[in-house]
Amino acid sequence: MKAYFSELFTGAWSLLVGMKVTIKALFTPVVTVQYPRQKIEVTPNYRGHIDLIKDPETGTHKCITCGACMRECPSDCIVVEGEKREGVKGKALTLFTLDYTKCSHCGACVETCPTGALNYCQDYEVAGSAREEFHYDLIKRVEERV
Ligand code: SF4
Ligand code: SF4
Repeated sequence: MKAYFSELFTGAWSLLVGMKVTIKALFTPVVTVQYPRQKIEVTPNYRGHIDLIKDPETGTHKCITCGACMRECPSDCIVVEGEKREGVKGKALTLFTLDYTKCSHCGACVETCPTGALNYCQDYEVAGSAREEFHYDLIKRVEERV
């Protein structure tokens, strides 16, 4: 008889402990989102792939085609090209590509840029089925960005 009541008590107690966890979870704010219908705000410190920053004053990038980022990149994933143009001081940027398949997110390019022209983008939905889909034209991207 004693064993019966002991078992009954243990069962009821474990039920109460379980209910406590359930009720606590019921009143805890929801942190999950219904992705992909709902999108999250990423932290400003999030490091996506590198991108040229759009200068709000000029409406274009701040790259002076010095090539420092390309030389500094340990993975050889940046290609920068420029050309001399009539009336333009220095070289005008004609090509800036990133092969994101090789990027290690080391940040050397961002840190070395003398004009602060590079930063990490906020894109987190980067998926593809071919390597070429991760070869980015950063000039095109900066021009298309509002
Ligand atoms: S973050 Fe590092 S690996 Fe990636 S492009 Fe810049 S320098 Fe190269
Ligand atoms: S280091 Fe900066 S200014 Fe120089 S090529 Fe790279 S992005 Fe342009």
